[in-house]
Amino acid sequence: MGRGSCGYHRLVAVGKPQTMRDSPDPARVAGALERWFAHAARDLPWRTTPRDPYRSLVSELMAQQTQIARVVEKFAPFIDRFPTVHALAAAPEDDVLAAWSGLGYYRRARLLQACARAIVADHAGRVPETPAELKALPGIGDYTAGAIASIVFDRPEPAVDGNVVRVLLRVHNADLPQDAPSTKRWATDHARELAVAAESPGALAEALMELGATVCTPGSPKCDACPITDLCAARAAGTTGTIPAPKARTNVSVLHCASVLDADARGRLLVERRPDTGMWAGLWQAPTLESSDTEATAGDVRAFVGAGSVEIAEEFDHKTTHRLVRFRVWRSSGARAGRSRVRRSPAQIAQLGISNPQRRILLGG
Ligand code: SF4
Repeated sequence: MGRGSCGYHRLVAVGKPQTMRDSPDPARVAGALERWFAHAARDLPWRTTPRDPYRSLVSELMAQQTQIARVVEKFAPFIDRFPTVHALAAAPEDDVLAAWSGLGYYRRARLLQACARAIVADHAGRVPETPAELKALPGIGDYTAGAIASIVFDRPEPAVDGNVVRVLLRVHNADLPQDAPSTKRWATDHARELAVAAESPGALAEALMELGATVCTPGSPKCDACPITDLCAARAAGTTGTIPAPKARTNVSVLHCASVLDADARGRLLVERRPDTGMWAGLWQAPTLESSDTEATAGDVRAFVGAGSVEIAEEFDHKTTHRLVRFRVWRSSGARAGRSRVRRSPAQIAQLGISNPQRRILLGG
C-alpha cells in the first residue's frame, strides 16, 4: 500500500524495518521541549504570565493562516480598541472589521465577535476551560479548543495545527500524507500522549508549535539547533528532507477584478460595500467589476460606473489559497455615486473594513 492510503499508518523503513518501538519516549520528548521553550520562546504580546484567556483567544483566531509578524502588528491596537470580551461583544461589527483590516480572512473577525457574544451570554463573560465547552462556541474548532484548554488552563489536551503535524511526523519518521484526516487523528493521539507526559501541558503545547514555526520548518529544518535532535527518528534515519511528503497541488481558479478609482474635487473616493456572503464579505472596496472568465474592457468599466473616460492606472495579482485574483485598477472621473456607492475621504476609508488589495488600491498600501 503506497503513500496516500487512507487510514494506514506506515512508518518508513530505512536500512531496517522500523516499528513503533523506534518512536521516542514521550516523557523525554516533552521534557526536552518544555526546557527549551522556557528560554527560547519568542516574546509575543499575548504571552503574558499567566496567559490571559481573552487575549489568547484573540491571538489564536488572528494567527490562523496569517504570518505571525502581521499578527504582532495588529494585536495590540485590537486589544486597545476592544480590551475585554464585553467590549468586543458590544462593538459595532464595522469597528471590528476595521480593526481586523490587514489580517485578511474577515470571516474570522465575525466569528471572533460571535464567540465573544456567546461567552458573554452563556458563560458570564468568562472563557470556558474544557474543549467541549470551547468547541460549542462560534469559530472554535478542535485546534483552537485544544490550544486554549492547554495553553491557558494547562489541561493535557492536544492542539494540532499544520506545524505540529509536521513535527510529529518527523519525530516518529512517519511517512503519512500530511493533509489526510487520518494523519490528523494520528498526530492528535501522539500530541495527547506528549501532553499527558508533560510537566506543564500548556508549555508543551506552545513548545511544539514554536518548534514547528522556528526550527522544524517545512523546507530545511534546523536540526542542529533542535532540542530533540537526539530523539528524532527522521533525523536518525536521514529522512528530514522527505518527511512530510510535499503537499498535492491545489487547483487555483482565476478571478478578474476591474476596480475603479474615482476621486472628486475634494479628493473623496467612491466606495461600495461587498455583499454579506462570499469572498471579503461585507468589506468596503472601490467599485469593482468581477468576472471569472474575461477581463473587463474600457467600455465595460465606463458603463459600470457611468464615467465619460477611464484609463488603466495599475495592474497586480493577489493570491489566496485557492484563487488568483487579477486586479486591474482604472482611474476615472465623474463616476456616479448612488444608493450603494458613496464618497469617502482617505481618512474615513482608513477606518473601514477593507481587504489588503483594496487597501493598496484606495490608500496606496
Ligand atoms: Fe525537526 Fe530536525 Fe528537530 Fe527532527 S531533529 S524535530 S526534523 S528540527
